Amino acid sequence: MSLLDNSQIACEYCRRKFVPKKRWVQKYCGSPCRVAACNQRAGRAHPLESQSATKARRRKERGRTPTAVAVNQPVPTNEEVLAAIGQLAERLTAMEQLQQQLLALLRPPPV
Ligand SMILES: [Zn+2]
Repeated sequence: MSLLDNSQIACEYCRRKFVPKKRWVQKYCGSPCRVAACNQRAGRAHPLESQSATKARRRKERGRTPTAVAVNQPVPTNEEVLAAIGQLAERLTAMEQLQQQLLALLRPPPV
């Protein structure tokens, strides 16, 4: 039995060979692999991980935080915002005029 007791099995997650402490019960080489495999199966974060912790982790994974975005974008003044709205309105009017012209071209001539 000593030969069998020292035999290794492959971790079901990382495939690393290891000697299980509990034979026929232990499928993973350690807790990290067991948890990771559990998460992978569930397709979601670990239930013990809080929502805020999940969000923080995802932000970290993306490599940017809302704070970093806010720092990179200076807050425009009211005048700048109004000017931008005015420009957009002008463009919208121009687009509407263009649309009317195109529709007039597409419409069948009046009988
Ligand atoms: Zn493992």
